[in-house]
Amino acid sequence: MDIHLFFLTLLSLIFLTTLKTKEYLIYSIKRMFLTLNNIQENWLKAVVAGGYTRACLISLVKTDINQFHSDAGNYVENKQRTTAHKQVETNCSSCKSLADVLECPTNGYCKGKPCTLHAGKRVDINHACVILMQYIVKNHKHCRPSWKNTDVTHWGSDPWSLAGCFLPRDGYEGANTAEDTDLNGFLSVILNCEIFKQYVNDWEKPDNICEKARKALNKFRHSPTMSLSDEELTDYIGTLKNHLENSGPLKKLPDVQDAVLKLSKLEK
Ligand SMILES: [Zn+2]
Ligand SMILES: [Zn+2]
Repeated sequence: MDIHLFFLTLLSLIFLTTLKTKEYLIYSIKRMFLTLNNIQENWLKAVVAGGYTRACLISLVKTDINQFHSDAGNYVENKQRTTAHKQVETNCSSCKSLADVLECPTNGYCKGKPCTLHAGKRVDINHACVILMQYIVKNHKHCRPSWKNTDVTHWGSDPWSLAGCFLPRDGYEGANTAEDTDLNGFLSVILNCEIFKQYVNDWEKPDNICEKARKALNKFRHSPTMSLSDEELTDYIGTLKNHLENSGPLKKLPDVQDAVLKLSKLEK
């Protein structure tokens, strides 16, 4: 087995196994470190740094997506109350796909001319799911939700189904829970969903501090040689720390403070 693949497998297992197995795996990794050269060791440290950062964000992202889901529900209800001749619907069981909700044509969703997904379907603008869809668009930084990563039949019951709208368009087909989502996915949700604005001081800027962390992550993730110089490792960890420490509401979280300490130790 390729040595990098072996390490990656070990690291994945660390996050998924029991305490005793974790201790053994960490011990194995420490021993393996001794056989690596410096730049490979740096690459591995960068993987671990990403793991610490992801771990400290998971609970925050889940909590705020739950809040977003609840805010969206209130928005729909208020909107329906203030619309004449419509009654308030709290649960929808009639929408089977986004074709029942999105106007045709919608970029990133519709297929073919004429569109085979809509096939003549008309959207009722007062329907609960349509109002919820409008709320999602309104709260997306670029007004371009990833429709392919969300399932309208789960919108009422599963808050995380809304998070899919803020993930990158590609590569997240199976990410149906926060636990299935990687660091790049979390950073994308923070970057794209307005409820996370408080965690990034310069959120409005295209190249904000969170975007810098996401770019740094992707640069190292796509390194073909799976190696990192000392300088690159320092830059990468520094960028992650800058993001975690940039805003008051983010840096005061105990999970975040713990991750920053762990990242500082990795730098040494
Ligand atoms: Zn519906
Ligand atoms: Zn269409």
